[in-house]
Amino acid sequence: MSAVMITRKVRKWEKLPGKNTFCCDGRVMMARQKGVFYLTLFLIIGTCALFFAFECPYLAVHLSPTIPVFAALLFLFVMAMLLRTSFSDPGVLPRALPEEATFIEMEIEAANGNVPAGQRPPPRIRNVQINNQIVKLKYCYTCKIFRPPRASHCSICDNCVDRFDHHCPWVGNCVGKRNYRYFYLFTLSLSLLTIYIFTFDIVHVVMRSVNNGFLNTLKETPGTVLEVLVCFFTLWSVVGLTGFHTYLISLNQTTNEDIKGSWSGKNRVQNPYSHKNIIKNCCEVLCGPTYPSVLDRRGLMQEDLLVSAASTAPASSPSSSSSSSTNPVPQTTKTTAPLLPNEHTPDEAKPSIAVSPKEELPPAPKVPPLASPETDVETSIAKDKAH
Ligand SMILES: [Zn+2]
Ligand SMILES: [Zn+2]
Repeated sequence: MSAVMITRKVRKWEKLPGKNTFCCDGRVMMARQKGVFYLTLFLIIGTCALFFAFECPYLAVHLSPTIPVFAALLFLFVMAMLLRTSFSDPGVLPRALPEEATFIEMEIEAANGNVPAGQRPPPRIRNVQINNQIVKLKYCYTCKIFRPPRASHCSICDNCVDRFDHHCPWVGNCVGKRNYRYFYLFTLSLSLLTIYIFTFDIVHVVMRSVNNGFLNTLKETPGTVLEVLVCFFTLWSVVGLTGFHTYLISLNQTTNEDIKGSWSGKNRVQNPYSHKNIIKNCCEVLCGPTYPSVLDRRGLMQEDLLVSAASTAPASSPSSSSSSSTNPVPQTTKTTAPLLPNEHTPDEAKPSIAVSPKEELPPAPKVPPLASPETDVETSIAKDKAH
């Protein structure tokens, strides 16, 4: 019985845990559920298309040609901010490597001492001091890390996100440290666009009604009624949301902290991140430094696959080893990822532990395709004797 180790190169995003989806070879990162995001796109593009089709030609001639130009610029800005928020890494924190997780567990056990059977172990919390305030760092049982201050685990994306604000289904992504300002600019510009379209819809109807009558105008421009309805209902929610986030930014607070009441009076903990000055808080949130993604999604990592083969077979290629008829356990795989701190194989793709050929176990999971356009296979390392 022998085994051949195959090393192949994969992009790190292919092995990231969590429930994100990736496109364009890891350049685009989103949450898995995107239905509401498509609705957002449909509503914005649909309403603007109706505006350009029904109102803009009339308003450009009878009022000012700058009206469609400004609407187009605002529309492009809204779309740019939406896609920037939706397609980026919100600030996902890498999970601990198995060795790191074991070390942290040992540290926690050493600190807590032996907990008698039947008693609840103490909560896994560490205290740090920030601007003379004690801030608790909580342990994430999924990511196996003590979360940095302001980070939280998003249950939808199944990742810890730095400066977690909230998970927004409308943009199809978490909103966190790396995309918060774009999210805010999106809500702000969308508010302006909605008010703009709503106002010029009304102006358009009034101007036409003077000559044609109200009912005739509605018949001639059926899109206007639809636009007015969409804008009217969007207006309250989007403008309200923008106002709420303006309030949060002025306090340098996140939605998550606001909902949990992290800095409310009852805890007697002041917000240690606030500069106690609205201008400074706004500058920090909106104009502060941008942070690079720590995921290195497009970086390359090596994946080792241990492919077992019959001992009688010569040093064989992976394809011949996998088709060996003398071996009741066709393949075993073992994945190691020395280069990636957050390496984690999704549950459905978790490799089995290498099994002894004497154990009668069902066939191990299939070996991933050895040659694909995106993977670079090196059949190299070793032929190792199990017996
Ligand atoms: Zn977590
Ligand atoms: Zn999320």
